[in-house]
Amino acid sequence: MRRDLKPGDIALVVALLLPLLVALPRLGWPGGAGAGVWLGWIGRTTGILGLAMMLLAAAVSIRLPGTDRWFGGLARLWRLHHWLGFLAFILVMAHALALGLAAVPASLDAAVATLFPPLSHGAVWLGWLAWAALVVFLAPTFDFFGQPHYQRWKRLHLVSAVALLLGLWHGLLLAGETALWWLLGIAGLGAIVWRKLVSPRVARYPYRVEAVETLARGVVELVLRPEGRALAHEAGQFVYLSPLDETLTAGRGEEHPYTIASGPDDDFLRIGIKDLGDASHALQAVTPGSRVLIEGPYGEFYGRRFPERDQLWIGGGIGITPFVSGARDIVERGQAEGRVHLFYLANRPDRAYYRDELDEIAERVEGFTFTQHYSRDQGRLTEAFLREHCPDFTEREIYVCGPPAMNAHLRRLLADQGVPRARIHSEVFDFL
Ligand SMILES: Cc1cc2nc3c(=O)[nH]c(=O)nc-3n(C[C@H](O)[C@H](O)[C@H](O)COP(=O)(O)OP(=O)(O)OC[C@H]3O[C@@H](n4cnc5c(N)ncnc54)[C@H](O)[C@@H]3O)c2cc1C
Repeated sequence: MRRDLKPGDIALVVALLLPLLVALPRLGWPGGAGAGVWLGWIGRTTGILGLAMMLLAAAVSIRLPGTDRWFGGLARLWRLHHWLGFLAFILVMAHALALGLAAVPASLDAAVATLFPPLSHGAVWLGWLAWAALVVFLAPTFDFFGQPHYQRWKRLHLVSAVALLLGLWHGLLLAGETALWWLLGIAGLGAIVWRKLVSPRVARYPYRVEAVETLARGVVELVLRPEGRALAHEAGQFVYLSPLDETLTAGRGEEHPYTIASGPDDDFLRIGIKDLGDASHALQAVTPGSRVLIEGPYGEFYGRRFPERDQLWIGGGIGITPFVSGARDIVERGQAEGRVHLFYLANRPDRAYYRDELDEIAERVEGFTFTQHYSRDQGRLTEAFLREHCPDFTEREIYVCGPPAMNAHLRRLLADQGVPRARIHSEVFDFL
């Protein structure tokens, strides 16, 4: 998680603390009271915070194009969503544990009865049911059972709506102040309803596959023509693409994130797709003329923090797509913003997609330089290689996109050269 605070972070902290502030007069302050009173207070406090976090984790998953920027882009927002969900789970566990322990000084029977009262105490049992639903959908997310299958994991995630409903009901029955919980509940459950039911019907742009151009073995560029209004986007942003082609062997109707490789002024939307699994494999043979639905755009890859500095772009493998979009944008605008040096890291020349086009842009556009690096012949990218081709690389604002191992290597290399983290923007093509 980046350390710089975004406006959305502040709104989130306020929304999280508000229910606690509102409840404080009722909760009181245990002060010098005994352990039992303190544990009861902790139990209620963690319950309030845990439920608020659950609802807010759902609220931030709304995926409304543009709103992700308040949080520094969708990738960062997803990490925030994961952490909120994880912390909510911990707090909910602490809530039950502390309330049970609070009754121990009275007697063990009292502790058991607090946690497992007769069934007539519906509010408590609603809490347990919410906890069970939480366990069902959170367990695979946190790798307890290894890397989950993405589509199955997404379907299982829908159980979160049940956990939220039951948790909210539990909270409404027990909390003294309900208006705020209703608001948070509407935000959390409303986000799920929007994402799953409303947005697929009203917020997707229909496009048709105009052409499928092969870039290399297992890599194609889809050229998409808008059927109606075209999606407005900036260089480096990404979309969710759902193909509707009946002949696809996998992934029909599934939404997958892909970076837009075209420039903002292009009449077509161009998307470079590498065969990395079932759906992306099937897309290599998508039928020209078939329809796709596009949702977005998301992200702010080129969000500049130091506009006065020149730029260093480093792309690896299919992670070159945001830079292709950036280079095409430069061509459309006729000039680069300051000087831009793009390094393309690939295993060997035939795995450097788009290299002829990038070479040609570098020849044509002043201020745009393109260097290729092949790990098969040259090994890992080194500081010496960067310095030889771009002597002032440590002074530039740096954008990195590639496989996780490449990103990690570059982060270390750049940190060793004293480049502050704030000057490095990076994206990996993986949300899990
Ligand atoms: C912001 C972003 C931009 C991307 N841009 C590109 C691009 O320009 N070109 C390109 O070839 N690939 C891109 N990808 C990767 C692309 O989304 C995955 O390769 C594709 O979703 C794999 O699906 P699959 O069924 O073929 O493979 P699977 O075997 O199902 O998945 C392989 C891995 O891809 C990830 N993945 C799968 N489905 C999704 C999903 N719906 N949402 C998020 N992650 C998923 C998971 O980590 C999974 O483990 C991008 C990913 C992200 C997050």
